[in-house]
Amino acid sequence: MATIFTKIIEGEIPCYKVAEDERHIAFLDINPVAPGHTLVVPKHEVSYLFDLDDEEYVALELFAKKVAKGLRKAMPCKRIGETVIGLEVPHAHIHLIPITTEADMDFRHKQQLPGEEMASICARIKEAIEAE
Ligand code: 5GP
Repeated sequence: MATIFTKIIEGEIPCYKVAEDERHIAFLDINPVAPGHTLVVPKHEVSYLFDLDDEEYVALELFAKKVAKGLRKAMPCKRIGETVIGLEVPHAHIHLIPITTEADMDFRHKQQLPGEEMASICARIKEAIEAE
């Protein structure tokens, strides 16, 4: 069965998309640990990030790098933290999180932001990535 991320990639489930190319997509996490928390996902459905072949893995990280640069400009933060968990959704992905302190990476602090705020954050990040 297709993962929830494949359903997002295929447009069956909506998302706040900040970037896309032929092989990757980046969209806001529905329960961000910090505003701007973004998921970077290969369109090729592979369960475990470290099972991607070398070429796919490097391409994903290069795409994530571009997203991270835009994210850092769009969101008030010191840096972009990157993490891999993969316990909830069995479709390889990278978390990019705007951070100022270590606590901003704490996954016990998931939140839900109003739709309007998510839409406005999404638009800001998208514009910054496109300017990269
Ligand atoms: P992980 O698999 O790395 O443990 O966590 C998956 C992440 O995907 C979680 O942070 C969760 O909030 C996010 N997530 C789960 N389902 C959806 C969804 O339908 N849409 C979006 N945008 N994010 C999701």
